[in-house]
Amino acid sequence: MKSVLPLFIFVDACGWEIVKNDPFARSFAPNRKRLESVFGYSSACVPSILSGAWPVEHRNWSYFVYDPVNSPFKSLRCLRWLPAAVTSRRIFRRWLSKFVKAQLSFRGYFDLYNVPFKHISLYDFTEKKSPLQPHGMNEGTNVFDYLEQRRIPYHVSDPGLTEEANLASLIHAIDHEEPNFAFLYWPALDGLLHSVGNQSPEIPAKLRSYERWIEKLLHTARGHYQEIKLYVFSDHGMANCDEVLDLKAQIETLPLRMPEDYVVVYDSTMARFWIFNDRARWLLTECLGKVPQGRIVPDAELGRLGALFPDRYFGELVFLVKEGVLIVPSHMGERPIRGMHGYHPEEKQSYALLCTNQEQIPEQVTAIPHVYNLMVKEAENAQSCNEKPQAPSTTARAVQVPSAVQS
Ligand SMILES: [Zn+2]
Repeated sequence: MKSVLPLFIFVDACGWEIVKNDPFARSFAPNRKRLESVFGYSSACVPSILSGAWPVEHRNWSYFVYDPVNSPFKSLRCLRWLPAAVTSRRIFRRWLSKFVKAQLSFRGYFDLYNVPFKHISLYDFTEKKSPLQPHGMNEGTNVFDYLEQRRIPYHVSDPGLTEEANLASLIHAIDHEEPNFAFLYWPALDGLLHSVGNQSPEIPAKLRSYERWIEKLLHTARGHYQEIKLYVFSDHGMANCDEVLDLKAQIETLPLRMPEDYVVVYDSTMARFWIFNDRARWLLTECLGKVPQGRIVPDAELGRLGALFPDRYFGELVFLVKEGVLIVPSHMGERPIRGMHGYHPEEKQSYALLCTNQEQIPEQVTAIPHVYNLMVKEAENAQSCNEKPQAPSTTARAVQVPSAVQS
């Protein structure tokens, strides 16, 4: 029997608004807090949680960037001759993405999405490593580097496995009292919300199944650890998309050429531009200024959001739509989907959730990167309690003292 297990369960897209009026996790993690998210998609939020840093610091932000010199996709240009009926099919794109990922030895999540083959050699993909592994950040370190450095035994989910398989794998590790820190990652709610939206009865049904899984996990853990410090949290929420915006059609009416005058990446909720002359800058700024569904995010605001990159690596002009608007077609998808995230962090559905069985959530924990501080503090504490055998009563008291967390 060990003393303490810090158990961090990451439920992707389980936003504050989604559980605000739902009893989710209340029976075993009654202390809840709304957290600010990070501007960007999961490609920005997950690395921020795992590193405690903001995008400008860890440089994991949006997936595709303009970088023709370093583009690993040059060989795919020949596919531009294939008919769109084939190349825009999801099934073809998924198959090709798997093949390209293996060829290029990418270790993180990879998808070619809907990037046109005509222009694919202009772009590089920024998540070549997995943020869920040590050495997984583009800059700096993450919690797994920290755990390895301090030789703290840990368990982390493998994103290549199903949610059930990752649960079974963690239960097995707990049965053997291996970890002094556990990180479980469940991404399926995100996928479900994207396809059915945040009002579907399928959402509470999925939350109930997560609760059953967590109960099962806790039941096993109680047989092997005197105390389980449980934290269930998310990275962002999900907004329903009620309006589509064909931004590409509007930009392509301008007397500009790509890639001579500008290059753009159309994400689902933002368009990021690299601009090569003053005339293009003027025409693009004027055109975007007249699109009522969104706005150009000023540099000062990007700076406050931790997403202003001095080298403009992710684009020099960022146009962001309002919550509920979806850019279609985009480089992320050809067709509309029901739900999306990646809006401004102050939009209603952007806020994330943290809930715990601990009495206090430190005041300084207000945004998702701060979950990192909790993880590090709890891992450190569990390591010292579990490796130093103590009288059970002393241990129990010692681990319940809440201590300050850096913000
Ligand atoms: Zn998502």
